Amino acid sequence: MYVKGVGPARAQVLEAKGLSTVEDLLAYTPFRYEDRSNVKTIAQLAPGEMATVVATVASAKASRFQRRNLGLFEARFEDGSGQILLGKWFHGSYLSGVLEPGRRIALYGKVELDTYTAELLMMHPEFEMLPEDDSSDASLHLGRVVPIYEAAGRISTRVFRTLVHRVLETLTPLDDPLPTSIRERLKLPARWDAIRLTHFPEERDEIHVLNEFRSPAQWRLIFDEFFWLECGLSIKRARARKEDGIAFALTGKVREQVKRMLPFKPTAAQKRVLGEIAQDMAKPHPMHRLLQGDVGSGKTLVAAEAAIIAIENGCQVAVLAPTEILAAQHYYYFKNLFRDLGYTVVLITGSLSAREKSQLKKLVAEGLVNVAIGTHALIEEDVNFRRLGLAVIDEQHRFGVMQRLKLHRKGERPDVLVMTATPIPRTLALTVYGDLDVSIIDELPPGRRPIVTKHVNEDQVELVYSFIKREIDQGRQAYVVYPVIEESETQALKAAGKMFHHLSAVVFPDVLVGLLHGRLPSDEKEAVMESFKRGETKILVSTTVIEVGVDVPNATVMVIEQAERFGLAQLHQLRGRVGRGAQQSYCVLVTGKLGDASRERIRTMVESSDGFQIAEMDLKLRGPGEFFGTKQSGLPALRIANLIRDHEILEIARGEAQQFVEHAPAEERRRVVAHIRKSWQRLYGLVEVG
Ligand code: ADP
Ligand code: MG
Repeated sequence: MYVKGVGPARAQVLEAKGLSTVEDLLAYTPFRYEDRSNVKTIAQLAPGEMATVVATVASAKASRFQRRNLGLFEARFEDGSGQILLGKWFHGSYLSGVLEPGRRIALYGKVELDTYTAELLMMHPEFEMLPEDDSSDASLHLGRVVPIYEAAGRISTRVFRTLVHRVLETLTPLDDPLPTSIRERLKLPARWDAIRLTHFPEERDEIHVLNEFRSPAQWRLIFDEFFWLECGLSIKRARARKEDGIAFALTGKVREQVKRMLPFKPTAAQKRVLGEIAQDMAKPHPMHRLLQGDVGSGKTLVAAEAAIIAIENGCQVAVLAPTEILAAQHYYYFKNLFRDLGYTVVLITGSLSAREKSQLKKLVAEGLVNVAIGTHALIEEDVNFRRLGLAVIDEQHRFGVMQRLKLHRKGERPDVLVMTATPIPRTLALTVYGDLDVSIIDELPPGRRPIVTKHVNEDQVELVYSFIKREIDQGRQAYVVYPVIEESETQALKAAGKMFHHLSAVVFPDVLVGLLHGRLPSDEKEAVMESFKRGETKILVSTTVIEVGVDVPNATVMVIEQAERFGLAQLHQLRGRVGRGAQQSYCVLVTGKLGDASRERIRTMVESSDGFQIAEMDLKLRGPGEFFGTKQSGLPALRIANLIRDHEILEIARGEAQQFVEHAPAEERRRVVAHIRKSWQRLYGLVEVG
């Protein structure tokens, strides 16, 4: 990057931030704006308001007489208005030598009244050093709406502001690759203007509009980012759809077998979704479809119908699950459904003996197995199918893209159906899952009653026991679950074990209590599950292994211990294990003391049973990166756009991109592909576009 003021040291810091070209720098947009056009004097400040003040450090000290060593740093500021403003920072020792008397700084923060001295105070205000003198670029930092950038290492917001300004002044305007027709129709400002005004807004832009990222300039840049991304995805998807695949015939025999299998009338949503899947399967190209549906909405049944299509066309089906328990669940579920159809279903997991495994593999390779169900063991290199036609992957979340690819290579481009219980808004799903089409089951099977969810403090857990007892007396069953978070399996195991003994020996000496956890050998796991299924075991104490897939309609109580340690998605999944029969079901969240975030999660669970709402809340609380597991989902690192905040712009951009990719004249299209190749591949890894 050749910009005055960027030497090798700064260049290195910028590079680490992904800013290696001048265009990258221009794409590094402010995350916030401050109105310093009308800076208040200290005398004008009122407690409660957010304000910017320009003042001089009068005195500063790290206080030592604090009893606990909080490293409190205090500074007093004056601006000639006759009043003093106090600034306080805990753990602020780093500020000695920075906030030195005489330095002029801009402070931004919430104005409060100090309880002891009744002076005006800002706690942890943001601040920015201002030039000592009235140097030439001082007007950049004051007397206007000022952009605030995220600092990078030693490069402060002020340095960024200066660099960007310099670049904007010296660079010739960048060209505008956005198709003119779109620009005109949406009345978007020219790209160069949009860049300029996003960094240095005009006075008439209102500060709150800017901070909501809705000025016309910001809108345009957000739109751009989504538009190119969606174009890339759309082209990529179109290409994938042209690959050769298997065209399954939807014969009368298929229909007959489906009818024979169905244990109940499918819901309208299940029918619609199966229609979409069948249509895909009939095409001579591989299906890449995501099946979304809330916990208990009946996705597995739809997957079984799809399996019949493949099998009746002489193909094999692979079903991939994230955990052994879930694989086992699917195994029983499919086996049961297919009992009268004469299909062979096998379960292949890591805990089989080498001999058993090699026997099963042989059967799969010879084509004697119709449905092979398993965990990742199923996609180990040496499992070969004779003719794999359909791969069903449960819980996209935990399977990386690589694993999906690996499975894909096992057949001659088999159809792929991915199932997930994390319902997210459709456009978002289409973007995040990029190359997948999306089908949604938005309806629960009939007769389901909403689950009643309660929050109980851990010192009242006896109440929970008496409640469980009542339900058991009425013939129902209950789950008691302990959280396993990655590092804590041993701990969770201990807690579950202790509870198991307490419940079985002390609280419920005369009913059968079972214990299930990840470290049991699989035949024992199966035995415990089977006993619970048959209704002999009344209470199942477990670590999170039952998180997905357990299906016992007679269970009506789900007690989640230490619920504050679970994420929202996980809590919702767990709760979905009850409420599967006609009886009223209950979920009890037992917690210790709650922090802000955990209180919010518990409140969401108590108030809502709608998976969509919960997923949206989860997304909000955690942010898209963590929510999706950025790496796994291939979620792009967006620069100015934000998947949640800018959801409506994403919708518009997606529509425009699809229109464009479908209808653009060949030459325009080539130009766009070249643009994506050049500047977007590096950012978004749209490697195969073009
Ligand atoms: P998901 O995988 O979407 O969480 P499942 O496929 O496990 O849901 O189905 C949940 C429960 O609902 C199962 O017991 C299943 O047999 C039952 N079920 C599925 N579809 C229907 C339907 N159309 N009518 C009644 N029950 C259904
Ligand atoms: Mg399921």
